[in-house]
Amino acid sequence: MTIQLKETLKVLDQKHFLHPTSSIEQQQADGPAAIFTEGEGIYLKDMEGNVYIDGMSSLWNVNVGHGREEIAEAAKEQMGKLAFSSCFATFSNEPAIRLASKIASMAPGNLNTVFFTSGGSESNDTAIKLARHYWVLKGQPQRQTIISRTQSYHGVAMGATNATGLKAFRDFTNSHAPGFHYVYNQSARNLRDTIEQLGPETVAAFMSEPVQGAGGVNIAQENYFKEVREICDEYGILFIADEVITGFGRTGKLFGMQHYDVVPDMITFAKGVSSGYAQLGGVIISENIHLDLCELSKGTLMHGYTYSGHAVACAVGLKNIEIIERENLVENAAKMGEAMLEGFRVLQDKYSFIGRVRTLGLLGAIELVKSRETGELFDTLLSPIFVQETMKRGLILRTVTYEQDTIVFAPPLILSQAELNEMLRILDETFEFVRKNIV
Ligand code: PLP
Repeated sequence: MTIQLKETLKVLDQKHFLHPTSSIEQQQADGPAAIFTEGEGIYLKDMEGNVYIDGMSSLWNVNVGHGREEIAEAAKEQMGKLAFSSCFATFSNEPAIRLASKIASMAPGNLNTVFFTSGGSESNDTAIKLARHYWVLKGQPQRQTIISRTQSYHGVAMGATNATGLKAFRDFTNSHAPGFHYVYNQSARNLRDTIEQLGPETVAAFMSEPVQGAGGVNIAQENYFKEVREICDEYGILFIADEVITGFGRTGKLFGMQHYDVVPDMITFAKGVSSGYAQLGGVIISENIHLDLCELSKGTLMHGYTYSGHAVACAVGLKNIEIIERENLVENAAKMGEAMLEGFRVLQDKYSFIGRVRTLGLLGAIELVKSRETGELFDTLLSPIFVQETMKRGLILRTVTYEQDTIVFAPPLILSQAELNEMLRILDETFEFVRKNIV
């Protein structure tokens, strides 16, 4: 019966469902890699009853874990009362107001006012547009350029795509917009030189993830963001932190930039704010920007999404944050991140084809290399084979293969030591398999 149903769904999927960020070729050849039906804690179950550890919190987002009844209840209650009403034209609703003020109370420094979206790409497009609009209001309309870093990922809306440093995303549609520049991801000096070259008076904002996620969980050098903040201040450039992955506890602090003691002018967020239980994101702007906007704005803010301030999504966000606080998940991410790094180091000692390993909270990476000395990669990249093998053993992970061969990790923030041990056991078994059969 299940086999028949799976076959039916596979055919329907292949014919009618164009998947996001997927190989169409692979889908047409094999159908869906898994059809998930249930989730509980850090585990996902597919329709055949196979159970997997969700080692990526699905898309770096299901931070409080799957199957949270109280979030379902909060959504149900809000839907029963008021599923949706507009936030355009100064209309409002209570969950949106409460979530905005809750986020303002959590955000560092003077980041105090929230614009809501439905996800990360919309949030980054919003931040780009707000930055440019801000400079128009300030009488410097020539400040249009957005500078971002190589290996960055900011999403797939047109602004976010163009801010993304991973070139393959920009090349995909061959729609390279003017007004975007990229700097080497670990060089503050390169940022300064680029600003000088472009002319500081043309630059609106610098955008960066605190830890680059899709680009390979790249952790910045210790002083990088401090220098970046100083450079932005020196040239009067806005600093936008893309905390879509890192926001709400993923790195062991509420916001990733807090590791570097740096307060940006805007923070974009999504994923962890609702743990994926509803589509929600936003931009937190500083009090200074907000005051300027209040003082200088005339007429309408010509930017808004139908679902900006969606009542159900905001109710879900509020409940999700309540859980993060009640269960001390930020602290748990910090503690378990340390334990995950220890586990990676044990594996690194055992397998010579493991290169560098790193974690910041529950964001982690293991690089695979032919030679640790030279950093040379295998002719056929190992990580895609590796994650297929971990999946067979009940662990879902993801690879990064842009100029590297890396396995990345982002387990739910509820991860326990026993669950981590299970993850590490599967990794060990898979590395052993790879050593015996592949390398
Ligand atoms: N920014 C970062 C750092 C991300 O990792 C992502 C998604 O993975 C995005 C933006 C885009 O978010 P979304 O897919 O919700 O549009």
